[in-house]
Amino acid sequence: MPDLRADTVPGRRAGALAVLDPATGETVDEAPDQHPDELDAVVGRAHRAWPGWRSDAAARTTALRAAADAVEAAADDLARLLTREQGKPLAESYAETARTAARLRYFAGLAPRTRRITDGRPVHSEIRWRPLGPVAAIVLWNFPLQLAAAKFAPALAAGNTVVLKPSPFTPLATSLLGSVLAGVLPEDVLTVVTGREPLGARLVSHPGIRHVTFTGSVPTGRAVAEGAAASLARVTLELGGNDAAVLLDDADVDALADRLFWAAFRNCGQVCMAVKRVYAPARIHSRVVEALAERAKSVAVGPGLDPGTLLGPVNNAPQLARVEQVTRRALADGARAAAGGHRLEGPGHFFAPTVLTDVPPHSPVVTEEQFGPVLPVLPYRDLDEAVEAANSTGYGLGGSVWGTDLDRAEAVADRLECGTAWINHHAELSLAQPFAGIKDSGVGVAGGPWGLYGNLRPFVVHRPREDGR
Ligand code: NAD
Repeated sequence: MPDLRADTVPGRRAGALAVLDPATGETVDEAPDQHPDELDAVVGRAHRAWPGWRSDAAARTTALRAAADAVEAAADDLARLLTREQGKPLAESYAETARTAARLRYFAGLAPRTRRITDGRPVHSEIRWRPLGPVAAIVLWNFPLQLAAAKFAPALAAGNTVVLKPSPFTPLATSLLGSVLAGVLPEDVLTVVTGREPLGARLVSHPGIRHVTFTGSVPTGRAVAEGAAASLARVTLELGGNDAAVLLDDADVDALADRLFWAAFRNCGQVCMAVKRVYAPARIHSRVVEALAERAKSVAVGPGLDPGTLLGPVNNAPQLARVEQVTRRALADGARAAAGGHRLEGPGHFFAPTVLTDVPPHSPVVTEEQFGPVLPVLPYRDLDEAVEAANSTGYGLGGSVWGTDLDRAEAVADRLECGTAWINHHAELSLAQPFAGIKDSGVGVAGGPWGLYGNLRPFVVHRPREDGR
């Protein structure tokens, strides 16, 4: 790891980045607030490290497997720091650390396939795959480690080098991850930079960056695409979602309630593909509201380090303000809180798990993304109307259909306008699947072999056939 202390880097801004514990409001630690001018040196080193890294696929596989082992060996420190700066329960931080290692191991074992085209011309055409160069990876604060690995694991496996910028709200566990990986990867193959804006903006428009891969909000995604246009770098954007869960009239409410609740409230609702709206047939609507409200009222909310905690705080003050604002607006629009509806007293960014009913469909908690522990449950009479409502927002990340007749549920799921649909589940992803939102939810394809190819370019060689035909 380069030495990033303020006194060692010329041009460094004097201030450091204080990182707050969302459960207490206290400072966990500080991270360097790097000056954007430092990026020239960082990207320059990533360029110089590239030829060595791209030249030996077998060495990359070995190094990435060692990286996965190193992450697992550091799980205690990573998970604890992640909970302290992000807020999630410690068990979830361990799970996120394990998923980070799993991504490294998965992509370590993937390689692009060289293909030959023989189509009657007197040449063989061979399609080979080449890495792009230094990749800028920028992520937000909900799954800092897992999302970072979803970007750097395929990029590194493809033979690129990476400059990774975590969110200023959660730079600590990522910086520790960077140090852990620096022990097993060649120097400057992966560099973590931390700081406030315009660090990210300068990184995406840096002329030395060949691919920008970003996870965050739609407005920032648009700014990233504009920034990357300066150097015409490739752009992959994984953006917001407003996933609908459509319950059918044969849904078994008691059997599905736990799964549906956690699909909406896991990680305090701060999940791109959380269930953010529920559509229930009018006949069972009140039972669905009751079942979800019962769970919202009884779930253990508290600091992530407390062993009994199942739901932690909202990660940061602006996000808490946003959750409070859309909830208040829904209540002012005529909604009723069947559970929660307000912040919790005391230190930290806690918001009571909230289930809303009687919500007008035009209220922002329905039409926009709340990204917090608040769930509107809307009744419907006609299934076509429910599908239309599910498809009516600008987002298209995921969606789910819940019912007992699986064929019927699948036929409805097939009508959802999104990248991934589930039956009787939500947000379960395979490492081997493509991950791509439509509409405002994203550009490009991540995940599985598609994620690897997203970090490669085709290089085609035409060569005369030996037989001359
Ligand atoms: P954000 O968009 O404000 O910030 C994300 C990152 O971008 C941070 O690291 C930030 O510092 C950086 N950034 C800010 N301005 C920038 C600029 N001009 N150029 C480059 N980088 C810049 O994050 P947010 O609004 O808190 O994110 C929440 C959103 O993320 C939600 O919409 C959520 O659904 C989405 N999300 C999507 C996925 C997915 O895979 N599709 C996963 C998780 C979250």
